[in-house]
Amino acid sequence: MYNPNAAGAANTESGSRLFVYEVVGLSQNQVTDNLNYPIRRSGSVFITVPYNRMNEEMRRITRMGAQIVSIRPLTGGSVGNGQATSANLRQTVKSENQPKPMIPTKHKTDIPVNIYKPNNPFIGKCISNQELVREGGEGTVRHLKFDISGGNLRYLEGQSIGIIPPGTDENGKPHKLRLYSIASTRHGDDEDDKTVSLCVRQLVYKHPETGETVYGVCSTYLCNLKPGDEVKITGPVGKEMLLPDDPEATIIMMGTGTGIAPFRAFLWRMFKEQHEDYKFKGLAWLFFGIPYTANILYKDELEELAQKFPNNFRLTYAISREQKNPEGGKMYIQDRIKENADEIWQLLQKPNTHVYICGLKGMEGGIDEGMSVAAAKFGVNWSEYQKQLRKEERWHVETY
Ligand SMILES: Cc1cc2nc3c(=O)[nH]c(=O)nc-3n(C[C@H](O)[C@H](O)[C@H](O)COP(=O)(O)OP(=O)(O)OC[C@H]3O[C@@H](n4cnc5c(N)ncnc54)[C@H](O)[C@@H]3O)c2cc1C
Repeated sequence: MYNPNAAGAANTESGSRLFVYEVVGLSQNQVTDNLNYPIRRSGSVFITVPYNRMNEEMRRITRMGAQIVSIRPLTGGSVGNGQATSANLRQTVKSENQPKPMIPTKHKTDIPVNIYKPNNPFIGKCISNQELVREGGEGTVRHLKFDISGGNLRYLEGQSIGIIPPGTDENGKPHKLRLYSIASTRHGDDEDDKTVSLCVRQLVYKHPETGETVYGVCSTYLCNLKPGDEVKITGPVGKEMLLPDDPEATIIMMGTGTGIAPFRAFLWRMFKEQHEDYKFKGLAWLFFGIPYTANILYKDELEELAQKFPNNFRLTYAISREQKNPEGGKMYIQDRIKENADEIWQLLQKPNTHVYICGLKGMEGGIDEGMSVAAAKFGVNWSEYQKQLRKEERWHVETY
């Protein structure tokens, strides 16, 4: 017969870390109804399990018709060298009633790629070009919408398109294409399947030797486009940042600057559009790093969504020049990740949680730092765990 205290007795076992399973569904069980066991009003039961019995206990709990909804280490639990790995930790949270494990993001054949190649690009037309940075903000970032009707160009949220700027480079050769993440859903901002939108920051920097101001070729070209101007478009490309089909998934998004582009597409698909085949009921959590409040791209729309869907959408800003981290330094996205690392870690234990990182190259280092600390509390080596997440197509990165 099931004896929940058996696990507790194992507290004295040496060489074994202790974990606490949060279990639901035991109260509905005839056998457990007779047990003298503290079942919370929420229906959760907390069971302490030594590392080396995790699988056994999991099977036992599943047999009882219950479900493990979270696993955490027991603070002050016995010290041991039992190293939990991503695979066996994940295995323990799996049960028949849980969401399907490892949902392949998309059937590979459904993904449109390279419909238009550089030697025969699609000629789109600029419909609108709006500034996204408000007064007091830094730099220029534009929301551009292109007409793509009259061709075969189609795309999915999370993909990119190529833009070929006009003219030639310093060698007299035609400019090479530059990639830009698509900021609209597959249906476009007007939901008529006739447009694609981008979020483009004009690259401006001081030449390190001459000190002269240099303007990026393609970004400057795009930021200066006028409605009616023609644009050479290639693609779409990219399979890394696709959304899973599962409407119950947890989608954690970490973006800096124009890294918001794919996330705008995700969020519009989840919350703004209505679909027969996709009604999002999961959790979307956006961490957005920017220098100033005036640089929060799509601010009003994001905040409106957060207000309208408080149970399904969380919005966390890291405003580096205005907010301070706990050490008194600038608040970067990695500081927000560290602040919330335990919760992110818990969410990652669900097999249908996906993390997406998009924006400036270099942002991953800080995120790994934060996650390493959270994972270490569970005796897990983060880089090993992350490898497993990547294998499962649950850790998605596109930085540039
Ligand atoms: C998958 C992907 C998605 C992308 N999505 C977006 C997006 O959504 N929005 C967006 O705005 N951009 C995006 N980019 C970046 C985009 O492709 C271009 O790289 C960017 O717009 C700059 O192109 P450019 O032609 O303006 O600059 P270029 O004229 O090509 O100049 C870029 C070059 O300038 C030099 N340079 C740049 N900064 C400095 C510096 N500080 N000091 C010295 N030299 C420097 C470097 O040599 C660099 O290669 C994405 C890139 C990738 C790969």
